[in-house]
Amino acid sequence: MQYNLFKPDRHWTEIELWKDVTEEQWNDWIWQLTHTIKTLDDLKKVINLTPDEEEGVRIATRTIPLNITPYYASLMNPDNPHCPIRMQSVPISSEMNKTRYDLEDPLHEDEDSPVPGLTHRYPDRVLFLVTNQCSMYCRYCTRRRFSGQIGMGVPKKQLDAAIQYIRETPAVRDVLISGGDGLLINDSILEYILKNLRAIPHVEIIRIGTRAPVVFPQRITENLCAILKQYHPVWLNTHFNTSIEITEESKKACEMLVNSGVPVGNQAVILSGINDSVPIMRKLMHDLVKIRVRPYYIYQCDLSEGIGHFRAPISKGLEIMEGLRGHTSGYAVPTFVVDAPGGGGKIPLQPNYILSQSANKVILRNFEGVITSYPEPKDYQAGRADVYFKEMYPDVYENYNSTGILAVMDDTKLTINPEGLARLDKRESYREDPLHDSLKSKREKRDVLKEKKYLAQKSKEFTSTSKGE
Ligand code: SF4
Repeated sequence: MQYNLFKPDRHWTEIELWKDVTEEQWNDWIWQLTHTIKTLDDLKKVINLTPDEEEGVRIATRTIPLNITPYYASLMNPDNPHCPIRMQSVPISSEMNKTRYDLEDPLHEDEDSPVPGLTHRYPDRVLFLVTNQCSMYCRYCTRRRFSGQIGMGVPKKQLDAAIQYIRETPAVRDVLISGGDGLLINDSILEYILKNLRAIPHVEIIRIGTRAPVVFPQRITENLCAILKQYHPVWLNTHFNTSIEITEESKKACEMLVNSGVPVGNQAVILSGINDSVPIMRKLMHDLVKIRVRPYYIYQCDLSEGIGHFRAPISKGLEIMEGLRGHTSGYAVPTFVVDAPGGGGKIPLQPNYILSQSANKVILRNFEGVITSYPEPKDYQAGRADVYFKEMYPDVYENYNSTGILAVMDDTKLTINPEGLARLDKRESYREDPLHDSLKSKREKRDVLKEKKYLAQKSKEFTSTSKGE
């Protein structure tokens, strides 16, 4: 099979900064991590910077730091500022621009946090931030309030408090280890976390969120894989945005993980000028599947401060989904999501495939524009499977509770009302006012009278019957 892996035009030894670096050093993750590009002078030895990029590097101390692994920097086009690797890693002056919609913590992760470094938003899963460090700071990072900020290393005490919270919260069955970059901790700390989490009986899945296979594939070592293998099920999501990030090295990293039994998924972000196109995204999805990475999400760019220049409209995401579903294998089609500003969680979006509905039929269209219909079954009875499985899994049904739209569907709720709805507040004030009168209260009084009258009549009939009249 042809992989068509990306190969930069120059080998790293042809780059001034690394001309004396040995193969052994280059492939050592500690060397990569301790030789990241942090200064304008070093960056100038790798690429020819534009004035805007130079300005961006100068202001990076006020946003998130400049930090690029030698490996990722070696993929850059030295002469073209539109190179997607450059655009993701080299700051530009627009990062200082803030619009009225930009937020420091757009997903309200800090507010849904029961203990520092842990976000518990969804009932059964938590986000466990184990480090604020990344090997490369993506310029569009949504966690820029946290990622790479100096003096915010995660102390063991904080890790232990988060583990303790998970231990004491039986509802948590899924833990996502992230950061920063979830693999930017050393093997012994990672093992400590995994071991403690795996010892908690109600933790079913451990997930790791990391960009290491993309920007720092040397991090995926035999030792790391041996550790992960011991604590299965461990899942991992990484973050390729374009096919030019799929190289011999990143392919090897992903394959080592998969060969260790770690299912690897990918979350890409739609970024203006980088991958906001159907052909680019379709190629990325195909290339991911070839290296056994399952496309999982395509994200709409968040509303973090200073990253507005990376945002493409939601319509672009829908167009990309239109260009994937049906046009390629289902395994290559991720879910397009908008992470709701304000902490509402992920909202999946897709083009509309339902055109209309009647009592008996749903009218659909496919990716080719063919209009078709699906006749609904006539004698469908909902709930028969539940009758069978309720006996088999009584605890699943006892612990089941529905919220949101599902609760309206299953009659747990009749409506969902937004907070602060003036009409409902007014109703409340009527209820509390003893002098308030309305047609409804008149009707209620009338119904009480009607009921009394009916009961009196019944009682009269009963008395007459018992007297034999
Ligand atoms: S790896 Fe993730 S957390 Fe780190 S800078 Fe990139 S997007 Fe942000």
